[in-house]
Amino acid sequence: MTLTDQSPVDFLKRYYGYDRFRPMQEDIIRSILSGRDTVVLMPTGGGKSVCFQIPALMLPGVTVVVSPLIALMKDQVGALHLNGIPAAYINSTQTSREQRDIEENCLSGKLKLLYVSPEKLLTDAFFIFLKRIRVSLFAIDEAHCISSWGHDFRPEYTQLNVLKEHFPDVPTIALTATADKLTRQDIAQRLGMNDPAVFLASFNRTNLSLQVLPGQNRLQQIIRLLRQKPDTSGIIYCLSRKSCETLAGKLQEKGFGAAFYHAGMSSDERAKTQDAFLRDDVRIICATIAFGMGIDKSNVRWVIHYNMPKNIEGFYQEIGRAGRDGAPAQTVLFYSFADVATYKDMLSENSPANLHLQLAKLERMQQYADAHTCRRQILLSYFSEELPEPCGNCDVCRDPRVTIDGTVLAQKALSAIVRTGERVPMNLLIDILRGSRSQAILQGGYDQIKTYGAGRDLRFDEWRSYLHQLINIGVIEIAYDNHYALRRGILADQVLYAGRKINLVRPDDVPKAVVEKPKTK
Ligand code: ADP
Ligand code: ZN
Repeated sequence: MTLTDQSPVDFLKRYYGYDRFRPMQEDIIRSILSGRDTVVLMPTGGGKSVCFQIPALMLPGVTVVVSPLIALMKDQVGALHLNGIPAAYINSTQTSREQRDIEENCLSGKLKLLYVSPEKLLTDAFFIFLKRIRVSLFAIDEAHCISSWGHDFRPEYTQLNVLKEHFPDVPTIALTATADKLTRQDIAQRLGMNDPAVFLASFNRTNLSLQVLPGQNRLQQIIRLLRQKPDTSGIIYCLSRKSCETLAGKLQEKGFGAAFYHAGMSSDERAKTQDAFLRDDVRIICATIAFGMGIDKSNVRWVIHYNMPKNIEGFYQEIGRAGRDGAPAQTVLFYSFADVATYKDMLSENSPANLHLQLAKLERMQQYADAHTCRRQILLSYFSEELPEPCGNCDVCRDPRVTIDGTVLAQKALSAIVRTGERVPMNLLIDILRGSRSQAILQGGYDQIKTYGAGRDLRFDEWRSYLHQLINIGVIEIAYDNHYALRRGILADQVLYAGRKINLVRPDDVPKAVVEKPKTK
């Protein structure tokens, strides 16, 4: 029997030892075998690799896999070798001798898969080499990197369009775990794909619970969580390298086996930490987002976000590293307005070309954290997937919020904002509403305005919660460009003058996000 008499599932059994395909894998493989350009959107851990590796085995020539990280290539090639699949990677860390050997093996037909970085791929020398071998398929892994709409844009990826120009008859498969609709279209277009087949696997990972907690006393909350989960593996994502180290240190002091991981460490140290985690020698990793790409550890039982991520794509990818074995896993996001403010400061300082896009993505993330409806529905809708019923496995579903008519509250707050000239930040506004006699109020003459004391009946923290909600639904806005003063949001006039009703959730029913003072630089 020749290889081509066998069906894809035979290859799955023979090389991977699995009995059946997961949803979509076989359709994707058949699409490629028919020579069609193909876009695959599948969550992390969904099983993207076999989608191009099996065609690579079945097609006559070599499949060239473009992958952004050398560490990722090494892992994948290592895994392929374990399965008895002839594969190699080629990159600038190798000697020219090593590179020549690999090229020889391609030319002689020994290799089925060749992994390469975009930088290497696009060199003239490599192109000449590609023309000499028989390329049967291009696989672009982490394809969202090609799009500036995506969250991990890499300029080197944009030149991949030359592949289609030089190899118009070779099909291309683009794979990613994270791409909203715009990014998806952009990927196909930038790769010069010709009427691609698009496969969107479900992003619904029902075994992941979703939870948002206030960013107050995070360390204590984390310790409590960890005590409930002894001997389980998990990742705590932090914003900065320094906070990874600090947090790992504090957890160690409390007797937890924790390590840290970030891009500031030597590659040796990083590899060591990663191995220790994979072997369960270290259970807890405090890491920046540098950790996890391509790590195939099935028993990660929880992922905690110490800081809110910048966008939903990143968030989804990071929580997706939990529960790959399908067993229940917990995800927790700590939410603080200070994180939002920090990002906004960072963004406005760097003022990237796509500032508005990044701000909009940040806003979607914040809406998720602030949500009073099923969080999974919000996540899935972000990836254009509809979940008809609330999920039952997020904190909102488990603990539904009770809403009240907050129209009068909104009007009082807005009126105070207008009468103080949209100049005062949240805490001062609350003091005004509650009729405080603080220095700042007396000095500003704010005790003279009509709404002074109009909100005495509510506690400070109740007001804070309501104001946050009003900000999130667009009634009030934070003026990031004006010392975080509160001003009228897009819905303000409707509330003030057009009788628009506003529903709010009682503060006791909301996991309260905290307002820490944004760090002054
Ligand atoms: P992704 O690249 O989408 O994050 P991988 O390709 O690394 O995911 O696959 C995740 C895990 O699922 C791997 O351990 C892989 O061997 C396994 N896997 C893939 N396809 C199947 C299948 N049909 N049946 C069982 N396990 C599978
Ligand atoms: Zn839910």
